[in-house]
Amino acid sequence: MCWDSKVIPKSKKPLLTPINCAVQVIPWLLSDSNFIKSTSQNLDPQKTVFVGALHGMLNAEGLAKIMNDLFDGVVYAGIDTDKYKYPIGSGRVTFNNSRSYLRAVAAAFIEIKTMKFTKKVQVDPYLEDSLCSACNVQQGPYFCRELVCFRYYCHSCWHWHHSLDSMQSHKPMMRNAKGVGNSGSGSGGLMLVSNHSRSGN
Ligand SMILES: [Zn+2]
Ligand SMILES: [Zn+2]
Repeated sequence: MCWDSKVIPKSKKPLLTPINCAVQVIPWLLSDSNFIKSTSQNLDPQKTVFVGALHGMLNAEGLAKIMNDLFDGVVYAGIDTDKYKYPIGSGRVTFNNSRSYLRAVAAAFIEIKTMKFTKKVQVDPYLEDSLCSACNVQQGPYFCRELVCFRYYCHSCWHWHHSLDSMQSHKPMMRNAKGVGNSGSGSGGLMLVSNHSRSGN
């Protein structure tokens, strides 16, 4: 929001004053979009997290370093870009082990602090097209990130599996619908803070 009504001068007629409206142009090198630690490493989608609400000044190497500081084992970080190769505020990080991956997913949010900015970013499992892992027959568009489930479900298996009272708080995540059922008091709640000393660019 560029408009802040609190700065209306009392004595004058109401006038909205633009604040912080300057467009910040951030130089972005194409090489900033991908960081690969080792090309021999397999990039396993099942060890990959989706990172949302990224700050535009964070490049892939900075993201890799932050995630590696917090969770270890980062082998790849990529910043999603638009057709002009400009970052769109999300990215992916692949780990070389399931433990780091699960810790990152369980964190759900991390706070990145650098000298230039502080930003709370969202960490989700990176979802693929998958069959329902309960019946292995239907497509499984619903993913449950709760650790007791942590798998893909079709519509009917989701409801069958989540009919118990203790499971009804589980919220389905869907591919291509980031954030669905994924806000509020989801799993985790653990806030990890990275005091990242580098500027990240
Ligand atoms: Zn099913
Ligand atoms: Zn569940």
